[in-house]
Parts: sequence; structure tokens; C-alpha cells
Amino acid sequence: MIEIKNLHKYFGDLEVLKGIDLTVNEKEVVCLIGASGSGKSTLLRCINSLEKKTDGDIWIDGELVEHEKESSINHIRQKVGMVFQRFNLFPHMTVVQNVMEGPLTVKKLPKEEAKKLAMELLVKVGIDEKADEYPAMLSGGQQQRVAIARSLAMEPKVILFDEPTSALDPELVGEVLKVMKDLAREGMTMIVVTHEMGFAKEVADRVIFIHEGLIAEEGTPDQIFNNPQHERLQNFLGQIL
Ligand code: ADP
Ligand code: MG
Repeated sequence: MIEIKNLHKYFGDLEVLKGIDLTVNEKEVVCLIGASGSGKSTLLRCINSLEKKTDGDIWIDGELVEHEKESSINHIRQKVGMVFQRFNLFPHMTVVQNVMEGPLTVKKLPKEEAKKLAMELLVKVGIDEKADEYPAMLSGGQQQRVAIARSLAMEPKVILFDEPTSALDPELVGEVLKVMKDLAREGMTMIVVTHEMGFAKEVADRVIFIHEGLIAEEGTPDQIFNNPQHERLQNFLGQIL
């Protein structure tokens, strides 16, 4: 579903990604872990074309991503959903309008169809009773579930999650992780940057440790958490577990 070869990204003189090679298969759930500043968000943003790569190649669903071409970027953004730490809902739209917006404007669905789809997705994330409220009336966990529904409304091939629960009060984390677990179980292809090691252990097919812009170690959750090889990974796990 995703193939990345020798991805490099500079911000000015700062080399943030130093040659990432990564393949993610259909229906695979990959968790990215690593210290703050190691390049995790930049990697996701390059995959989603929010940042232009400096060098290397990215294929999504067999299609080469061309960061120089507006048409390629728009196409990729339809295939790749993204859920951020901050939910970024449109504050002036109701919950259901937020979820309908992509299907209406990008997919040009008729209004009735877009609404039907949006309501189905709100049921799926367990928040249909809030359909006509504005985001500000919702808890962070509820807003994040709306953000996931909004992403699903575009019928993406893969969803990238960038620390989706980091901004939430602890008691709200579980409801968002549950929605993500359900998605994983249904076979959604996902890359998840997270500090929720319980989630990674339970749901990830593969865990990847990023260190200073490179993949330093990858393996099954069991290998990464119970038998880490690199000293840097051992230190990192020691700090967060
Ligand atoms: P992580 O998500 O692992 O915490 P990031 O990908 O956000 O790391 O950042 C990696 C490095 O790139 C950091 O040193 C950060 O300061 C830098 N960086 C990220 N975005 C930008 C930007 N738009 N301009 C300049 N530097 C950036
Ligand atoms: Mg980040």
C-alpha cells in the first residue's frame, strides 16, 4: 500500500529524514515510536504530501507521489487520511457538516448521500447523537472521534495518525483507542505515531523505532518491547514505560 525508498527531508540545513526505507502492506497496522524531534511527524507529513520530500520516492497504492504536481498531491490526499493530535475540526460547522464537507466538496456527492454517509460514520464512531452540535460543545475525545469519521468519509486507502490521543485528558484516551482498534480489526491500513505502548502491543503488526531521522529498529511488538536490541531503543523504552 505504501512504499518508501531512501526518503530524505531537509528543513534548510537541518536533515530531518536521513534515508527512510519503509513498506506498509495492505491491512497492516504499523506503529511509529521514537523521541520527540526524531522525525516521526515529518515522515507522516511527507507521506501525505503536507511536506515536500527533498529526495527519494514514495508510492501510495501503486502511484508515485509527485510533490511538484498539484494534481498528484490532491489525488494522494484522497487516498491518505490523516488524524492529528489537535482535531482541527471546522468550528463554524456542526459535527455532521464537518463529516460531510469532504464528500460534498471533493467527491461531489449529492447532499442527501453525503449526509447519509456522514450519519453512518458517526454511528460507527459512537457519536451520532451529537450530529447537530458544534465542535466546541464536545469533549476532546468526542472531537477526535469526529475527526476520524471525517477522515473515513473520504474512503481513504490508508490513515495516518499523528499522536491522536496526546492532547486528550487521560480518561478520554480509551474511547479514541477503541475506535482505532475497531478500524484495525476491520482491515484498515494504518500508520500510528503513538506513545500508547499498550495500544502498540495489542494492535500493531509491526513497531518501528525512529531515531534521528532513521529507522533504527523494527519488529513485532514482542520483539521491540520484550527484546529490544539497540541501546537507544532500550533507553527510550526505559524512559516511557
Ligand atoms: P517528531 O514528530 O518525531 O517529534 P518532527 O518530525 O516534528 O519530530 O521534527 C523533526 C525535526 O524537524 C525537529 O528538529 C523539528 O524541529 C524539525 N522541523 C519540523 N518541522 C519543521 C519545519 N516546518 N521547519 C523547520 N524545522 C522543522
Ligand atoms: Mg510529532
